[in-house]
Amino acid sequence: MYDAAIVGTGPAGLSAALTLKLHNKEIVWFGSEELSDKVGKSEKIANYPGVPMVDGAELNMKFREQAKEMGLELTEKRVTNIADMGDRFMILADNDMYEAKTLLLSTGIAAAKGFENEDRLLGMGVSYCATCDGFLYKGKTIAVYCTDERMEHDLRYLEEIAGKLYVYTSFGYRSDAENVEMLSLPVKKLDGGMKCDSIELTDGTKIDVDGVFILRPAIAPATLFTGLEIDGAHIVVDRNQETNYKGCFAAGDCTGRPYQIAKAVGEGNVAAHAMLERLAEA
Ligand SMILES: Cc1cc2nc3c(=O)[nH]c(=O)nc-3n(C[C@H](O)[C@H](O)[C@H](O)COP(=O)(O)OP(=O)(O)OC[C@H]3O[C@@H](n4cnc5c(N)ncnc54)[C@H](O)[C@@H]3O)c2cc1C
Repeated sequence: MYDAAIVGTGPAGLSAALTLKLHNKEIVWFGSEELSDKVGKSEKIANYPGVPMVDGAELNMKFREQAKEMGLELTEKRVTNIADMGDRFMILADNDMYEAKTLLLSTGIAAAKGFENEDRLLGMGVSYCATCDGFLYKGKTIAVYCTDERMEHDLRYLEEIAGKLYVYTSFGYRSDAENVEMLSLPVKKLDGGMKCDSIELTDGTKIDVDGVFILRPAIAPATLFTGLEIDGAHIVVDRNQETNYKGCFAAGDCTGRPYQIAKAVGEGNVAAHAMLERLAEA
């Protein structure tokens, strides 16, 4: 079992990972090799102390260098579900399960609002993970909505197993496969009673399906971790960055405005120290 699991490789997650590593804690760190798309896309950052007028790509590179120098390893997996087991947290990432004594959510802010009925039908014909659930739909009709080019391999996998695959992406995905039909309009709504059985596009077109895969880079925290206290789009935390689940902390954009690197770094640091205290108590 790990001492700490960190979900998110942006400035908040990095800041916490550095501090926990300095204290020789065993950590598992989920995210992307890029670390933070948001930092990478910032044109000029003028308000981060010690690095005057830096462009985002350069600052992100410095973050990566620092992580490497400190020997931090990250797991390029997307966390899709978390459960509190009382004395530890169970974390499902792609198809693998991890256990940790403490947990930090530093997932950034999920830009996309969920579709109508998405929460209700999750696990009932709606999935966030092609690797985990794809085999359930072998030979069946699947719709996939994907807004992250890095998940193209998941689209290819679904192509291989689906009888018919409806695909909407926000990037230029192309396929010659006979079973694939590209959708030019995004999904508006998911429908079904005990199971998702159709999708509705923004022009009102309905398509019958057996299953739907929603592949977004970030998943709303309340969906990721059932029972987590949320205020609007943000995770509610106390002065130690602790959430309503003891031992589970949150830092960065996911806890609220201002959405700033300095705030993310500061909160990641506060959370890491509070996690160390929790670990010492155990
Ligand atoms: C265009 C632009 C310009 C900006 N300019 C500035 C500026 O000048 N100054 C400034 O201070 N701030 C600026 N910001 C804001 C700044 O980038 C953010 O405040 C900061 O990146 C937040 O850090 P974070 O660690 O909270 O989250 P993020 O940087 O968003 O990182 C979150 C990480 O979590 C990962 N993640 C999310 N969900 C999961 C999951 N389920 N499983 C695994 N990994 C997951 C993501 O892939 C990502 O790596 C700008 C942002 C943008 C978009």
